Amino acid sequence: MTQTPSNVDVLIIGAGINGAGLFRDLCEQGLTVAIVDKADFGSGTSAAPSRLIHGGIKYLETGEFGLVAQSTLERNLLLRNAPHAVRPLPTVIPIFSWLTGIGAALRTLFGSTTAPRGRGALLIKIGLALYDFYGARRRVMPRHALWSKARALTEIPPLTPRIVAAGTYYDATVRHPERLVLELLQDGIRANPDSGAFNYAQLRESDGTVVRFALPASAERSFRPRVVVNAAGPWIDHVNAALGASTKLIGGTKGSHILLDHPDLLRALNGRMIYFEANDGRICLVFDYLGRALVGSTDIRAADPETVRCEDDEIDYFLASLRDLLPGLSFGREQIVYAYSGIRPLPASDATAPGLISRDHSAPVMEADDSRTWPIVSLVGGKWTTFRGFAEEVADGLLARLGRSRRVSTQGLAIGGGRDFPADTAARENWLSAVTAETGASSARAEILLGRYGTTARAVLAHEAGRQAEPLADAPDYTLAEIDWLARNERVVHLADIVMRRTALAITGRLSRRALEQIADIVAAALGWDAGRREKELEATSKELAQRHRLRLD
Ligand SMILES: Cc1cc2nc3c(=O)[nH]c(=O)nc-3n(C[C@H](O)[C@H](O)[C@H](O)COP(=O)(O)OP(=O)(O)OC[C@H]3O[C@@H](n4cnc5c(N)ncnc54)[C@H](O)[C@@H]3O)c2cc1C
Repeated sequence: MTQTPSNVDVLIIGAGINGAGLFRDLCEQGLTVAIVDKADFGSGTSAAPSRLIHGGIKYLETGEFGLVAQSTLERNLLLRNAPHAVRPLPTVIPIFSWLTGIGAALRTLFGSTTAPRGRGALLIKIGLALYDFYGARRRVMPRHALWSKARALTEIPPLTPRIVAAGTYYDATVRHPERLVLELLQDGIRANPDSGAFNYAQLRESDGTVVRFALPASAERSFRPRVVVNAAGPWIDHVNAALGASTKLIGGTKGSHILLDHPDLLRALNGRMIYFEANDGRICLVFDYLGRALVGSTDIRAADPETVRCEDDEIDYFLASLRDLLPGLSFGREQIVYAYSGIRPLPASDATAPGLISRDHSAPVMEADDSRTWPIVSLVGGKWTTFRGFAEEVADGLLARLGRSRRVSTQGLAIGGGRDFPADTAARENWLSAVTAETGASSARAEILLGRYGTTARAVLAHEAGRQAEPLADAPDYTLAEIDWLARNERVVHLADIVMRRTALAITGRLSRRALEQIADIVAAALGWDAGRREKELEATSKELAQRHRLRLD
């Protein structure tokens, strides 16, 4: 059905973390904003990170001190504003020599484009001290320390005895990055109900004034924006081309991760991340992500975000690196429960080592011209961690351009289920006893959902009350009523949205064929699917999980 174009201040194309962060900020300032994504919210690169909210200690090496200062501040802010999703992550860096790496590090610092190797204790000590210095603003976590070899091997017995010492410090991890993207969008709409967010919206055409999108179920939406923001991450150049403005802004690199079912490794990690240098000098990581060992990442020149997947040679690389680092444990392909891959939307660059391409962000503008009534602002680069600061910079520019001023700072603004989050043990007890009294849920159940959804858990628990509290097959900490709540309240369009982005069922490899069938039944009832649609969704989801994520359902 053709619809009259809606006038909006800003149209954002791409609802990854950068688009969603900007959407929330602009809505808070009273602007009317439409955000559209050709797929699900947060399903692009924003679903493929190492899940770290980090200051980027390795960027000290490339002399990006401004980026480290901003990232450590944003990390500290996220720990306060999204405590349901972002948690401290104690980190260990194994050290293999005392003095090596200083010459290479200095060369890198002064612009060499070949990758450094062998970071010795002195260099790491200097790096950690600098990292503490930059992370001092709004500090919430302890400072760094150095462990002797003996201490490191006592703390992590399977670690290679080749180490001479280890450094320890704190960063943070985001438990459900995909959910946090959705929460930002919901917060934006709450702040300005005239704004709208649309997933599975295909860009059909732009006549330079109106931009038209096809939505699911043959619906259509068109917008007459004053400004267009291209937040399409690795697809930025494609979107600009579709808008009639050719660019070469992105020179992406691919990065993959695997998740292992490995209880012995989790025991050795004991809640810590090991951030280590692999044999080729690249920095890799392994940590406990929701009960699985998350291992990443690679950094390989690549361009096509549609087909990207973790390939066999990347898996061989991860397993060889782990065997080298932790000879006291065994590693094999049979331990892999899930794999994922994404393209870093990095600025086009001619650095020979992909790891040395800047992770900083920029927002180049193409002004309105004879062919377009609106300027296009492209959001290039950036990290998950820095989305708020990036959004703030771009929002300030847009506000000035549109003759408006900032009403609300997002620095101290809680996100989604982080709102009114109980800050200490006493507040947590109060929250739990109020909610269990209200809903009849057990304290244990309320605790699980508080960890998963933050204070939004109250609404989920109310939905569960009086409904089927039946657990999901093979993943009993999820209930059928909870899935029903997600299907009805979280902008679900496809079955994959639930298993891959609204829940952690797929990524933790805990999704069975029986559970997928149960979820399909619930979503079909909630969204009015007929038997044919249900079958198609089951087939498409199973195929995507097997082909792109190595998850075979049984
Ligand atoms: C391997 C890897 C590890 C990383 N690890 C970390 C980390 O640990 N910590 C960290 O801070 N950062 C990390 N990053 C960086 C971070 O993930 C990205 O910088 C960030 O997610 C980019 O977000 P984005 O919103 O710009 O892009 P995306 O998330 O890709 O969003 C772009 C969106 O645009 C949509 N889109 C594309 N074309 C169209 C169109 N025609 N119409 C409408 N919509 C469209 C896509 O569907 C997509 O949802 C990592 C990145 C990678 C690849």
